[in-house]
Amino acid sequence: MRVYPVPDGVVIRWGEYQNEIHLERSVHTPFNFVHLADVTGRTYYKDEEPVLETFPNLVWYRLVDGEGRVLEEEQSVNLDDPLLKEVVRRAEVFLKEAGGRPIAILSLRVGGRKCPRCYDENLKKPTDPRCPVCFGTGWEGGYFEPVLVYGRKQGPRQRGRNQTEPIIQIQNSFVFLLPSIFPVSPRDVLVDMQEGGLYRATRVVEHTLYSAVLYQEVYSVRLHPQAPEYQMDFSSLQKDLRERAIRPNKLYDVQWWL
Ligand SMILES: [Zn+2]
Repeated sequence: MRVYPVPDGVVIRWGEYQNEIHLERSVHTPFNFVHLADVTGRTYYKDEEPVLETFPNLVWYRLVDGEGRVLEEEQSVNLDDPLLKEVVRRAEVFLKEAGGRPIAILSLRVGGRKCPRCYDENLKKPTDPRCPVCFGTGWEGGYFEPVLVYGRKQGPRQRGRNQTEPIIQIQNSFVFLLPSIFPVSPRDVLVDMQEGGLYRATRVVEHTLYSAVLYQEVYSVRLHPQAPEYQMDFSSLQKDLRERAIRPNKLYDVQWWL
């Protein structure tokens, strides 16, 4: 388990579990664990409830299964470092204001309820790769509710900054630079809300500073137009984007961290 600060809270990450899992938090001592959330099928949680009455490094998180058995545990450190939070916040602002575009992140479900439509109990796998219920994942729903961030998208030609390296063009491969507020895992899906198009994350590189993740570099491939994920409804996200007022941008000078 890993815990790191983001401007509006704390991100907690763990491994993949197929069965029911819950996240718990304890303050002051590691003996007062209180239920935070049912995180079944998830691999991360953003804790936005501040801990006011204690030192921020006296917070423990743990992951338990349906019977309360502890799966993973972590004491948080340096969560309230104002400078670190500011650096992470600036990275987020930079990714938005320096040519950032709206990107929706669809977190893949890695556990929970098996797909009632196509999961075969005998074969122990989903049987319809284009299933509209699980999108071929085998888990009901396939993905969690999309979240919106602003990030940069680079095509294969823009990838090599080092002039001496040959540019190897890989068809349909793109790199997204995204803020760290919502972690991306390989197999998650990214939606380019500006140009359209869905992308499958293949590799995620985290750029870190001390315990914090400044931003994530997500290598991805464009999903085939026949992929079932294109059947998802993104109208609420489009509405959300339209309703956000367009405000004049102030371009931050943050070359010091690039
Ligand atoms: Zn299915």
